[in-house]
Amino acid sequence: MLGRMRPEILFPLFSPITVLKGAGSRVAPLLERVAGPLVRDVLFLAPQGLITRRPALIAQLVEGEAQTVTVTIQAHRKPPRPGHPWKITTFDATGFITLAYFKGFGPHLEQRHPVGSVRVVSGKVERDRFGGDLQIVHPDYLVTVERIAEIPTIEAVYPATAGLPSRAVRRFVAAALDRTPNLPEWQDGPWLARQGWPTWREALIALHAPAQDSDLLAQAPHRRRLAFDEFLAHQLALALRKRGGRARLAPTIPRSALADQAQGALPFALTGAQARTLAEIRGDLASGQAMTRLIQGDVGSGKTVVAMLAMIDAAAAHRQSVLMAPTEILARQHFETIEGPLAAQGVAAVLLTGRHRQRAARGARLAELSMGEAMVAVGTHALFQDDVAFKDLGLIVIDEQHRFGVSERGRLRAKGDAAHLLAMSATPIPRTLELTLYGDLDVSHLDEKPPGRTPVATRAAPAPRLAEVVERLKHAVARGARAFWICPLVSESEILDVAAAEARWAALTAVFGDKVGLVHGRLPGVRKDAVMASFVDGALSILVATTVVEVGVDVPAATIMIVEQAERFGLAQLHQLRGRVGRGTGSGSCVLLYDPPLSEAAQRRLDILRRTDDGFVIAEKDLELRGGGDPLGLAQSGFPAYRLADPVAHRDLIAPAADHARLILARDPDLTSSRGEAVRILQELFDWRAGGSLSEAG
Ligand code: ADP
Ligand code: MG
Repeated sequence: MLGRMRPEILFPLFSPITVLKGAGSRVAPLLERVAGPLVRDVLFLAPQGLITRRPALIAQLVEGEAQTVTVTIQAHRKPPRPGHPWKITTFDATGFITLAYFKGFGPHLEQRHPVGSVRVVSGKVERDRFGGDLQIVHPDYLVTVERIAEIPTIEAVYPATAGLPSRAVRRFVAAALDRTPNLPEWQDGPWLARQGWPTWREALIALHAPAQDSDLLAQAPHRRRLAFDEFLAHQLALALRKRGGRARLAPTIPRSALADQAQGALPFALTGAQARTLAEIRGDLASGQAMTRLIQGDVGSGKTVVAMLAMIDAAAAHRQSVLMAPTEILARQHFETIEGPLAAQGVAAVLLTGRHRQRAARGARLAELSMGEAMVAVGTHALFQDDVAFKDLGLIVIDEQHRFGVSERGRLRAKGDAAHLLAMSATPIPRTLELTLYGDLDVSHLDEKPPGRTPVATRAAPAPRLAEVVERLKHAVARGARAFWICPLVSESEILDVAAAEARWAALTAVFGDKVGLVHGRLPGVRKDAVMASFVDGALSILVATTVVEVGVDVPAATIMIVEQAERFGLAQLHQLRGRVGRGTGSGSCVLLYDPPLSEAAQRRLDILRRTDDGFVIAEKDLELRGGGDPLGLAQSGFPAYRLADPVAHRDLIAPAADHARLILARDPDLTSSRGEAVRILQELFDWRAGGSLSEAG
């Protein structure tokens, strides 16, 4: 990392919010809740809307909107009982309106606004409780005609909280703007000119002074400028981290004859994408610098075999590998897949899971690893346990990497400080967003599926037609088909969800007898494995499951996927589930059951699934349909929480920001030029300590 002394010019923005006038011990905690602890956070608080205070005559007033009227005070009416408001009745040539004040403002109001005086009042117009008179409760402004200029015609609306209204937030924002210095330009001059964007400070001023609704849109020039700044800061952080990762040395592992033999012994030829990905991995392994590579490949794209060949290369170079899976079931399955081909090349592998009841067996495996007799370890979190020592770990492979927490990845990383890292993910991240998630990694795409797969026939059916679905399933099972039946995890209570799955299991058992199994997250691991095993070997025909099967489990003989309450799942999740069937030669089918009526959005989402089988297309569409927010539920996978950028609305800016970041660092690696100085200020301003990275030992 580059030196992290905060530039002096940023001190005013990095002061605590308590330096802002009025942010005392009562208000500061509220402001902190809305914005954050620093002046900068207040500055970066974008307005959510705007109020236009149209001047009007009373007869023209529109209920529910903030408006401004000029009135004559007719009378002050004391509250008849405590808890009632002080009321001021007023009029103009066209009608009457009442101003209502709760709490003890009364005598003071009467003094300042005596009967007969003319005042300008502004606030949200309503009808009183009985639908009768027009009123404004607690007007925002009540001033003399001379002071009309104090009433803004347009003002920004900020997120507020109880005790801290939008108006107060606006005052703090104005104070934060006052403290905002002009900063040197970090964006590329010609680019900036081409975009027609304002300077950073001008952009912030514009952000906080919307004059019309269009100024609030993500595509307003000042908003785009600020979004680009934020992407650029993030991409710089990622690029620096990537550079840091590359500086780590790791053993040189050349392509091996052993791996070529193993490849030749496979019952299939690698796809073009697999061959390309393997070549990319080999380039890294042979470089002497540590690999930090991610394989992005849709379900069924054949990631395991690529990893296996890399592990054989490592073994041939006398380096050990570990393959880590997020679940016991999956670890076991990987072990069963690769053990034979590895053994055929004389490479010994061990399975290490959390569940080795027999300590002796575990002890023996640990010994094999620490002595270097076993060259490959396959396992789950158990691989993190401190008693697991490798003789010479050279390659770490993490399957379904997004399922692991940052700290778990970090701990494994610590076991192999000088090891190469290969992560695999089947969560299709839209290409446009990939850079924001994985900008610090090298990414290989397995964008080609092995040949001979027929797409899974997908249809949606309303839940009331469940009986029909069961009827069809009867015929299919009679012909020897195997089916997954997925019950969603949706309620706040896992217990309730599990109860729903149990009920479905009971209902299906009534029809299919002992051919139905049940797995869910609350089942003990051993039990889960046993049920899975019976499903894999065909003793069970139907597996009722909560989404535990979502994680890469391979049951090639399963051809039917039924998903209950499909509308509750994300598209990406449904795609993953569907990817579980039709992996063998038999053609698969998928039934998406939904509770009618289906919303239009849900309808469109299910339609996308019916039309395409490409995980990346699905992810991209999902993103478009959902718009902003946390489109793919990525918050937990280390997806950055941007303040000013919207990764969906501004996604066209992500790739340019990454390019600029790369270029800046290529030209000025230590950021010592004058633009480099400006870039450092940008970095400090956003202060990325983005977690969730693979390459970060956390
Ligand atoms: P995923 O990318 O989902 O992890 P897997 O590695 O589990 O995919 O592979 C899915 C299935 O495809 C496996 O049964 C595997 O043996 C098979 N497979 C992998 N590569 C090929 C290929 N090039 N040709 C045919 N089948 C393949
Ligand atoms: Mg897999």
